[in-house]
Amino acid sequence: MQNPHGVREFLRLNDIMRDELLKNPVFAMAAEQFDKVADFLDLSDELRERCKWPKRLITVTVPVRRDDGSTELYFGHRVQHHLTRGPVKGGLRYHPAVDLGEVAALAMWMNWKCALMDLPYGGGKGGICCDPRNMSIAELERMTRRFTMEMIPFIGPETDVMAPDMGTNEQTMAWITDTYSTHAGHLEPAIVTGKPLTLQGSAGRTQATGHGVAFLASSALNKLDLPVRGSTAIVQGFGNVGSHAAQTMASYGMKVIGISDVNGAIWNPEGIDVKALKAYEIEHRTVVGFPGAEPVDPAKMLTEPCDVLAPCALDRVIHGDNAGQLQCKILAEGANGPTTPEADRIIDARGDIFVIPDILCNAGGVTVSYFEWVQNLQRFQWTEREVITKLETRLHASFEKVVGFAQRNNISQRTAAQAIAIKTAADAKAARGMFP
Ligand code: NAD
Repeated sequence: MQNPHGVREFLRLNDIMRDELLKNPVFAMAAEQFDKVADFLDLSDELRERCKWPKRLITVTVPVRRDDGSTELYFGHRVQHHLTRGPVKGGLRYHPAVDLGEVAALAMWMNWKCALMDLPYGGGKGGICCDPRNMSIAELERMTRRFTMEMIPFIGPETDVMAPDMGTNEQTMAWITDTYSTHAGHLEPAIVTGKPLTLQGSAGRTQATGHGVAFLASSALNKLDLPVRGSTAIVQGFGNVGSHAAQTMASYGMKVIGISDVNGAIWNPEGIDVKALKAYEIEHRTVVGFPGAEPVDPAKMLTEPCDVLAPCALDRVIHGDNAGQLQCKILAEGANGPTTPEADRIIDARGDIFVIPDILCNAGGVTVSYFEWVQNLQRFQWTEREVITKLETRLHASFEKVVGFAQRNNISQRTAAQAIAIKTAADAKAARGMFP
C-alpha cells in the first residue's frame, strides 16, 4: 500500500519528536549534560543515540469525577528511560508544571543515578499535570486509582516501580498498591516503594535521601581535612530532603546556620535548633517566624559564607548570576538539577568548591527504595539499623568511585559521576546487543 507521507516525511517527524523534548528547558539541560559526557567517553554514534533518548514515553488521559459531580480530564505521563539493566525506578509527581519533556529529563537522571549506585534498574519518572493543593483527598484518590489502571499494561515489579515525588506521598503509594493488587488478585507490595510500614514499606525510607545528603557532606568535609563537628551549613528547602539533611547534620554536631522554604528564610550564626524548628514547622507549616532565628533574604542566604551549601528544594537555583558569588566550600546537591550548565562552568573555572553532584548526593532515596523492593520480593523485613548501614556502605563506595575517577581524569565530579553512570548503562546495552 502506498504510504501517504513517504520516508522523508517520517524522518522529519522523528526530528520533530526530538525537538519537542528539547523544547523543555529541563530536558535540554539533561541532554546538554549527556552530550558533554558522551564526548568525554567517545561513545559511538549508535550508543549515543540509544542511551540519550527514552525507550518508552507513555501519555494517558485521566478522567476524574470532582466532588461537585463535574468531570475533569488530566494528562498523566510516564517515561521509562531504559529497561536494559532491569525494571525502571522513579517517582510520580503531581504538579501544575508537569509535562512530558520535564518527566523525560527526570527519567534520564534517574537512569544515571541507578547506574551510578549500581542498582539493577533503569530510570523512570511520571507525573500528572494537576494542582494537588486544590483537590480533596477523595479526588486525589480517584485520580491516583484511575491513573494506575491506565498504567497497568506498562508497570509491574519487573517492569516499572514507582515511588513518591513532589505532591505525592506514602498514601498515594498505598492507593497504587491497592489498585494494582486488586487487579492482580493478590497483594503485590513490590509494585511501588515509599509505602507505609503497615504495607511492607521499609524502615529508614523517609529519612534516606536527607540522611544521604548529610552523610556525603560529612565525607566531603573529611576529604578536605575539615572537622565535621562545628562546621557550618546552609540548607535550602525544609521538606523531606532538607529537613532530614538538616537534622542529620545537626546530629553530627554541625551548625546549620541558614534554612529556607517557599515562604522565606531564617538565619542564626550560632546554629539553628533543627529539632525545635521541625516541631515549629509541623505546627505553622513554614520555617518563617521561628523564634530561634532571624529572618534573612532567601536569595542572599545562598551566597553567605559556609562550609556546606545544600540546595534541597528546586532545580536551577544555582545559575549564572549567583555561581560566582557562592562562598561555600562544599556544594551538596540534595535537589535534582539545582545547578545550571552555565553555573557549572563558572564553578569549574573557580575550582574552589567541592561539588557532590545530585545523582550521587540525593541517591539515598532510590537506594533505600531498592532495599524496600528487595525486602518485598523476599517477603522479609530489615531493621532500620541494617538499612542505614547498608545505605552508608553503598554511598561511601560510590563517593570514593566518583572522587577517584574525577582526580584520575582531571574532570569535575559531576562529569565523573555522569561518566561512570552513562558508561555502565552503555556497556550493558553493548553487551546485550541490539534486537533483532
Ligand atoms: P518536598 O515537597 O518535601 O519539600 C520541598 C521543600 O522546598 C519545601 O520545604 C518547600 O517549601 C521548599 N521550597 C519550595 N520552593 C522553594 C523556594 N523557592 N525556595 C526555598 N525553598 C523552597 O520535596 P522533597 O521530597 O524534599 O524534594 C526536594 C528536592 O529533592 C526535589 O528536587 C526532589 O526531586 C529531590 N529529591 C527528593 C527525593 C526524596 O526522596 N524525597 C529523592 C531524590 C531527590
